[in-house]
Amino acid sequence: MTKKSPITVAHGDGIGPEIMVATLKILEAAGAQLEIETIEIGEKVYKRGVMSGIEDKSWESIQRTKCFLKAPISTPQGGGFKSLNVTVRKSMALYANVRPCISYHPYVRTTQPVMNMVIVRENEEDLYAGIEHQQTDNVVQCLKLISHTGSERIVRYAFEYARAHGRKKVTCISKDNIMKMTDGLFHRIFDTVAKEYPELTANHMIVDIGAAKIAAAPHLFDVVVTENLYGDILSDIAAEVSGSVGLCGSANIGKHGAMFEAVHGSAPDIAGQNIANPSGLLNAAVLMLQHLGQTEVAAKIQNAWLATIEDGIHTGEIFNPQVSAKRANTTEFSDAVIERLGKLPKYFPAMVASEEKQMKLPDIQMPKRGLKKLEGVDVFVDWRDRGNVAELAGQVKSLSNSLKLSSIDSRGLLVWPEAIAKSEQGDHWRCRFTPANDTAPVTHEQIIQLLQSFLKAGVEVIKTENLYSFDGVRGFTVAQGQ
Ligand code: NAD
Repeated sequence: MTKKSPITVAHGDGIGPEIMVATLKILEAAGAQLEIETIEIGEKVYKRGVMSGIEDKSWESIQRTKCFLKAPISTPQGGGFKSLNVTVRKSMALYANVRPCISYHPYVRTTQPVMNMVIVRENEEDLYAGIEHQQTDNVVQCLKLISHTGSERIVRYAFEYARAHGRKKVTCISKDNIMKMTDGLFHRIFDTVAKEYPELTANHMIVDIGAAKIAAAPHLFDVVVTENLYGDILSDIAAEVSGSVGLCGSANIGKHGAMFEAVHGSAPDIAGQNIANPSGLLNAAVLMLQHLGQTEVAAKIQNAWLATIEDGIHTGEIFNPQVSAKRANTTEFSDAVIERLGKLPKYFPAMVASEEKQMKLPDIQMPKRGLKKLEGVDVFVDWRDRGNVAELAGQVKSLSNSLKLSSIDSRGLLVWPEAIAKSEQGDHWRCRFTPANDTAPVTHEQIIQLLQSFLKAGVEVIKTENLYSFDGVRGFTVAQGQ
């Protein structure tokens, strides 16, 4: 007999308890080998004044079991409460969000009858690092941070997932025609890792056309791997066009454990009525069983669920008189799945447990140290009410003997020495300094002296960014028009 896997379960808010009870009943009937620790999260905990929505002893359970099956919770608005989802994601270092988006045509209404794709979204970095600053009256910034290790980890995960699940193609989606360094790194790593998987087709799409194709021709996709923000948007587009947001489950895979949940929220509008569809959470539980290596039970549940959908046993929100045989409530639906355990679907392809292979997820190594050379500095300044950009250039041009002002731009658009377009009034300027003598190396002391000169001249520096090359390759972009 398979050893029992310890898991932590939270019943959540709204419809959470109803769909969790239904899901656990099916897992038990199917013979899932689980040792369940139940914790409380969400509204009740927030109301006790716990700002994170989860108590320490519940944390200990998740840290011990490293596997969390979570029902949706209601996040209170305002009042300084922290998002539980973000806390869990960060604490468990959940780097991969995996969301299968499948259409169940003709049994569930959809505009896209042929669709069976999985979106693998990087979950820890990108613009979601939450590093934002207001720098001037006019300008705020949000830092987009993409790492070599973070990109390689998610890209490898996507290829391993594709191989283990018998998928044929992996598509990378980025915007590296514009963000040549951040998205360029992601794309480059994808191309490198793809070579290790010659049996899989690998291609790349720019996010704008990629999003359009997912909406209009999702049959073109199999596994998609992408950065955090694009993944957030694309996975909702994909779930929506599949027609089955309420049926979607997702896995969040981390370095310190994994979390599984339905894609939808706590649906307070239908809570307590025993009419919610438990399928999103059940499909998340199937992903959990696969993760735990209980692939036979996972397949048994998945096949019984598909047979239930094919038999027209449908909850209210997907009920369609043309194809549905019975409008089932939550309990009736879960009982129908249990009755079909051991049966195979007739129309949809059945899940086959033995085809699942173990995923190989190596420790990701830091890139080797390159020869890092300081090539100059960008000094960002708040300059307003003291004349136009020519006057700013006049002020800062003579602040250093060893570093020369080579350009000024406004949010990436060149405005000095030549303006490529008439720039509107602004207060946020980047002054780029490079060595006065082109061959001389730049030192940090020169930059500190330069900043002291800015201070003396009364020009407010809002930030600096060092310009480096690595192994002779320029590690910074130039302004538009340069
Ligand atoms: P929602 O997903 O809860 O509901 C949207 C609509 O879909 C509602 O009409 C609802 O009745 C319906 N619906 C959702 N799940 C269903 C199901 N299983 N069966 C039948 N119908 C279903 O989204 P919302 O209304 O925007 O959010 C409600 C609450 O859920 C909010 O407090 C939000 O913060 C929270 N939320 C939590 C999570 C999570 O815990 N992961 C995710 C999203 C939203």
